[in-house]
Amino acid sequence: MTQTSPKISFVSLGCPKALVDSERIITQLRAEGYELTRSHAGADAVIVNTCGFLDSAKAESLAAIGNALKENGKVIVTGCMGAERADIDAAFPALQNPNLLAITGPQAYESVVQAVHSAVPAPHDPFVDLVPPQGVKLTPRHYAYLKISEGCNNRCSFCIIPKLRGDLVSRPAGEVLREAEKLVKAGVKELLVISQDTSAYGVDIRYAESQFGDRQVRAKFLDLARELGELGAWVRLHYVYPYPHVDDVIELMAEGKVLPYLDIPFQHASPNVLKAMKRPGNQEKTLDRIKKWREIAPDLAIRSTFIVGFPGETEEDFEFLLDWLTEAKLDRVGAFKYEPVRGAVANDLGLPLVPAEVQENRYKRFMERQQAISARILRNKIGKRLQVIIDEAGPTVAKGRSKADAPEIDGAVYVSSRRPLRVGDIVSVKIEKADTYDLHGIAV
Ligand code: SF4
Repeated sequence: MTQTSPKISFVSLGCPKALVDSERIITQLRAEGYELTRSHAGADAVIVNTCGFLDSAKAESLAAIGNALKENGKVIVTGCMGAERADIDAAFPALQNPNLLAITGPQAYESVVQAVHSAVPAPHDPFVDLVPPQGVKLTPRHYAYLKISEGCNNRCSFCIIPKLRGDLVSRPAGEVLREAEKLVKAGVKELLVISQDTSAYGVDIRYAESQFGDRQVRAKFLDLARELGELGAWVRLHYVYPYPHVDDVIELMAEGKVLPYLDIPFQHASPNVLKAMKRPGNQEKTLDRIKKWREIAPDLAIRSTFIVGFPGETEEDFEFLLDWLTEAKLDRVGAFKYEPVRGAVANDLGLPLVPAEVQENRYKRFMERQQAISARILRNKIGKRLQVIIDEAGPTVAKGRSKADAPEIDGAVYVSSRRPLRVGDIVSVKIEKADTYDLHGIAV
């Protein structure tokens, strides 16, 4: 790269889906010869990819924009919050901040890139070959997010993502698989399949077939999972709703084709609350199905998120949720206290808000219940041998994850080893100790 390459500083906030957007923008800019820098101060412009899902995320996004304006001055805002620019305009009025160069919504890669072109012209000679064929990844080299669709056909009452991102648009199976294949060839050991609703993949394109290698592959959840499972990497499925056809994929887990891991954001268990939330795949017999899944794939780890204190949630609903949790014995669970999102239908349901202190109390009870479940599940792993992928090397102890742990959201396995372990190594580990969220063991 020549010394004159323009430098762009990039802040990526929000969920894994936003991270994939960031990676695409960066790949494009690198292809055009821009350089990335970690500090705002020396950069020619700053891009802030925002998250606008919850008020707390909005506050974080506004703070990041404010910081970039202060430290650099030339700022381009993109991402979910960009779709609701009123808040940004209110916090940083254009007249006071002519340096807020552009505000675009999520997936507006071209507008972001255009804004960069106007602010800092691209170098004359694009160094296209400086970009590796698999793109530039913000995640470590050994794992990568694979986005299979954009948008969502559901209309959960607390969520504005369909308003921000539109209805489901699935990528053709062949395209997804070619990207996955390139990633694996480039050294990626674990593919994290993401979307807003992974199990709905392909509905919008009527499960159309597309070419991959010498065959046609249907844009169907099961077909895609099966093909991904042949690439030789760990395949982890996120944001799956418990529609009936999910049962089929459990067989692939039992066969070892995809990881025995399901990330299902249940959000609640009480039928009343689920109805008010308008959740997809809301089945009465979810507990029975979980039991059946575990009979087929005994190592299946289920991770989920829940919202406590949703409007109208009664003590009875909440206790139903606690009992459900005890029965379901989910491996990994995250919880949020309900926060109203501006523009969400939930605000107009006319349901009574749960007072903040009640929310807090329920949140604590929920977390205590889950901690006990999680600790018990982890204790049962002591003495077992687990496959662990190494995320961080260390002189005597490396940090990794078992098949039951997704990066960034789940627990860790701390591995002592006599020989140095490298990032991306997959090793067999004998588990010796467990605490509430993490495991400790020795490489064997
Ligand atoms: S499934 Fe529900 S919560 Fe998830 S993106 Fe779609 S509407 Fe939002």
